[in-house]
Amino acid sequence: MSDPLSADRFLAALRDEGLDVVEGPSWRTWNRNAKGPWGPVNGVVIHHSVTRGTDQTVQMCHDGYEGLPGPLCHGVIAKSGVVYLIGYGRTNHAGLGDPAVLDAVIAQRSLPVDTVATVDGNRHFYGFECENLGDGRDPWPEAQLDAIVKVSAALCRAHGWNAASVIGHKEWQPGKIDPSFAMAPMRDRIAARLGQGGPRRGTPTPARPQVSLSKLIEAARTNPQMAGTPVTYAGVVTVEAALVDEGLLSKVFQDGHYGTSTVTAMSGWQERCGYRGRAPGQAADGIPGRDSLTKLGAKHGFDVVN
Ligand SMILES: [Zn+2]
Repeated sequence: MSDPLSADRFLAALRDEGLDVVEGPSWRTWNRNAKGPWGPVNGVVIHHSVTRGTDQTVQMCHDGYEGLPGPLCHGVIAKSGVVYLIGYGRTNHAGLGDPAVLDAVIAQRSLPVDTVATVDGNRHFYGFECENLGDGRDPWPEAQLDAIVKVSAALCRAHGWNAASVIGHKEWQPGKIDPSFAMAPMRDRIAARLGQGGPRRGTPTPARPQVSLSKLIEAARTNPQMAGTPVTYAGVVTVEAALVDEGLLSKVFQDGHYGTSTVTAMSGWQERCGYRGRAPGQAADGIPGRDSLTKLGAKHGFDVVN
């Protein structure tokens, strides 16, 4: 798994790859995070927009349309090769897809044919809409294909993925036909740009967030149930995301408070680690301990520091 890049890192990764990037209005905060989870991210989905003209494509992807609210992607890749940033966070591009495809993407191996649509793709994928009518006749200029390669390579590089992490919408959701070019040669180009022999040879080395045990304990000891002024800590959000993935917590709170539901969820994790006793001061009291937190981090992609 991999936490989504910060908006700054996302932008820097694209620019470092040599792309011409145009930042749309408020793109950093235009998202649908209030509607569902964003992350862990596992790959990139390429789409064609079924639109004519860059301005209209960018506008539609920002606003969405009747029945599908925007943002519809993270970026639009225009025929010119320029990348227009639309939104950042959860966006409405992937819909439901095949869990076997997601498993293959995570394992960085070749894809099975998509046959069912049961998994929330907007949580797991960056999405790029490529300006094209999608009728099989509208041409794909080399500048645009080159930009698709670079966007994909930039995100693979930033996350330590290989080209197997880049899929077409048509490979994710049964019934979809986009993009109208073949994805296998596209992945070959991405792999070549990444300097890899092929999609199976990647060595994922995702950047891992760090969680301070002492700061987390401080936040936990001042949760609203207990005495004192609540202390917030950004690492709480990282830990809560892991507890959500474990099915112990229903949602990630963005405020950095270590609240009552987080205490209960952490108690549940401590019990999974073999600790017992939820009363204050006991081993499964929901106040983080080094061993259980390290195990949570090892499973969900963060490191524990002092
Ligand atoms: Zn699509």
